[in-house]
Amino acid sequence: MNIILIGAQGSGKGTQAQLLEEQLHLKPCASGELLRDAITHGTLLGQAAQPYYDRGDLVPDEIVVALILESLQDLGDAQGIILDGFPRTISQARSLDEALRKHGRHLDAVVYLEVPREQLMERLNGRYICKAHGHVWNIKTHPTRVPGICDYDGSALEQRSDDTLDKIAHRLDLFFSETIQLVTYYAAQGKLIRVDGTASIEDVNHAILDGLQPMRAPHSGQSTLQDERIAGK
Ligand SMILES: [Zn+2]
Repeated sequence: MNIILIGAQGSGKGTQAQLLEEQLHLKPCASGELLRDAITHGTLLGQAAQPYYDRGDLVPDEIVVALILESLQDLGDAQGIILDGFPRTISQARSLDEALRKHGRHLDAVVYLEVPREQLMERLNGRYICKAHGHVWNIKTHPTRVPGICDYDGSALEQRSDDTLDKIAHRLDLFFSETIQLVTYYAAQGKLIRVDGTASIEDVNHAILDGLQPMRAPHSGQSTLQDERIAGK
């Protein structure tokens, strides 16, 4: 089973991805990490990506798609992959679909973790990290006992430079103007599962698993039918 999780920064996507990896035995497939690994190991794709990466330019889609295919070919014990960070645009989604089709693979489901923009702003803007160990806190959703001081080590909290209001707003704008189009794209393929991302981590997780159930059922359902037919002969 190959799935994509779509969600803005602050939607809880990373947490849910980790849960699903364990629950469904999926191999995490984060495009940024795939790229860094390929470059570190000096693979052919890594060498192709390196100049873009060094210049800070976007690595061409074909290279990222090829890395994803490579990871699909080397699943080990995993039952499929969970994609993160790619695709972000419709044209990337199309290249990925095409490449998967050529290799006799496909995506089974696309989960959209829906959280309103205002709430994402609030979650992200409340985020503080302790200077000593990088423990993550949130003024609103996960506060420390003493304001401004880490519960674990007593060190001072600071806001990451990436977490300032305009940087957060800019990233969310990109998500809600561009990446959000993937929702329509995959809905047209009948693969989209919309999940309310404002609920608790546990409830969101259950909603995703429930949503994925029918996508997983066709295979087992068919074989049960066949088994029954054979049994009834
Ligand atoms: Zn700390």
